[in-house]
Amino acid sequence: MASVELKDVRKAYGALEVIHGVSLSIADGEFIALVGPSGCGKSTLLRMIAGLEDISHGEVVIGGNVVNALTPRERNIAMVFQSYALYPHMTVAENMGFNLKLSGVAKADIEKRVAEAARMLALGDLLDRKPSQLSGGQRQRVAMGRAIVRDPAVFLFDEPLSNLDAKLRVAMRTEIKTLHQKVGTTSVYVTHDQIEAMTLADRIVVLNGGNIEQVGTPLDLYRTPANLFVAGFIGSPA
Ligand code: ADP
Ligand code: MG
Repeated sequence: MASVELKDVRKAYGALEVIHGVSLSIADGEFIALVGPSGCGKSTLLRMIAGLEDISHGEVVIGGNVVNALTPRERNIAMVFQSYALYPHMTVAENMGFNLKLSGVAKADIEKRVAEAARMLALGDLLDRKPSQLSGGQRQRVAMGRAIVRDPAVFLFDEPLSNLDAKLRVAMRTEIKTLHQKVGTTSVYVTHDQIEAMTLADRIVVLNGGNIEQVGTPLDLYRTPANLFVAGFIGSPA
C-alpha cells in the first residue's frame, strides 16, 4: 500500500493544456472517487498517476517515490478498465496468474495467490472456465482478480462498471466496497455515477475542465457544495 501525492500536476497535449495544476494528497489506504463530466481529464489524471503519461509540469509521488522515475514493476500499480481484455484461449486461473508468470513468480506461489483472489471474488468454481463461458460481471471480477493477485500498492479504476447493466452494477459496487474493506489498498476510482462515488469513496474529487472544483467526504459535498457546479453534479438541493 502507499500514499499518493499530486503536486501541481499539469498535462498538455501539444499546445493544449488539459490538466491545469492539480494538487492532491491521498492517504495510504484511502478510497478516492474521481468524478466530473466527459472530457474533463479524469482518464488523463489516472494515467499520470499510473506513470503512463509524460507529466508536463509538477510531479506524482507514490509511497515517497516520483512515479516517472520508477520502473512499472517498482510502481506496482494495478489498473482496471471498463474493457477488460481477458485472453480468450486461457482459463480464468491462467488469466489471473499470467502477469505473475511473466514476472517469474514460482508456480506454487501463483496458484496460492490465484486461489486466494478467487475466494475473495467468489470465482472459486469458475477457475477452469474460459472467458467465453462467463457472464459480463464474472469477466469483470476476473479482471479485478488479475489485478489483486499482484498485491498492488495502488488500485486505479477507470469507469470499470460502465459496460454492465444497472442491476449488475449495483452488485459489483458492493463487491468493490467489500474488497476494499478486506484488502484496504489505496484506490482512485473514476466514475460519472455519483451514487457509485457516494457509496464507495472516503473522499470525492470533483474535476471540471482540468481543475479540481472541490475535494471532500460524500457528506461534505452533499451538505456544503463549493459551487453550483458541484451541487449540480452531486445532485444536492443547493
Ligand atoms: P475524461 O476521462 O474525463 O473523459 P480525458 O482525460 O480522456 O477525459 O480527456 C481530457 C481532455 O484531453 C479531452 O479534451 C481530450 O480530448 C484530451 N485528450 C485526451 N487524450 C488525448 C491525446 N492523446 N491527445 C490529445 N488530446 C487528448
Ligand atoms: Mg475517461
